[in-house]
Amino acid sequence: MPGETTSQTITIILSEGLQELLRPGKRGPVVYPMGRRASIKDIVESLGVPHTEIGAIRVEDRDLDFGFIPAPGQAVRVTGIEAPFEVTSPSLLRPEPIPVVRFVVDVNVGRLAALLRLTGFDAAYENGLSDSEIAELAHRDQRIVLTKDRALLKRSKIDYGRLVRATYPDDQLLETLQFFGLSGPFDFFSRCLRCNRKLQPIAKADILPRLEPKTKKYFNTFKTCPRCDRIYWRGSHCDAMEARLKAAGFKDSF
Ligand SMILES: [Zn+2]
Repeated sequence: MPGETTSQTITIILSEGLQELLRPGKRGPVVYPMGRRASIKDIVESLGVPHTEIGAIRVEDRDLDFGFIPAPGQAVRVTGIEAPFEVTSPSLLRPEPIPVVRFVVDVNVGRLAALLRLTGFDAAYENGLSDSEIAELAHRDQRIVLTKDRALLKRSKIDYGRLVRATYPDDQLLETLQFFGLSGPFDFFSRCLRCNRKLQPIAKADILPRLEPKTKKYFNTFKTCPRCDRIYWRGSHCDAMEARLKAAGFKDSF
């Protein structure tokens, strides 16, 4: 009975960027059977799109929130988040913005954590954290989750996240900075790459015995990590990343 089928379904029209997250082979408007009352958030997530990827939900010209329950026959437009995503400003879908941009990085994009720290961002990362621990940390510390795991981003405790698309760590860094509108200047050489703590300046004279001859000869400004005591100086990896960011159109850091 075609008439009956239509009256019990809704149509979901996903924007281009979200369609690529549908299960393989699915493209175009999705006809969804409304067998039970379900929020648009649950419906879209059941299609494979985490709520963290959604920027707007509309029926005709009405903007709606995640709790909206579609009525049979309705067509719902769901669009992705457009860069730059300003996480510190409230929106209809995310009325509680986070105060400052900081991240928690999942193990599947683990090397991104060190690159974010190199660039000066607070990026929590710990090998062995479970999905629920990451979600809890994101919730408690108001952190943005960076991952390639869609199931993690579907967790309701997570308000802000990004399903990282790029494959290589350097590209993942550029993707993250661009997506969240972090255009620089960046605070290179300010955070421990190992433990994420803010570095503290230290006099060269105080650490002379710990420096290699070449480091002693060519560098004069040093910092240490208050947690692991590792010594840092502005080495070639900083310069290389800065050149890469500059080439990608970001502002000078110094
Ligand atoms: Zn450290």
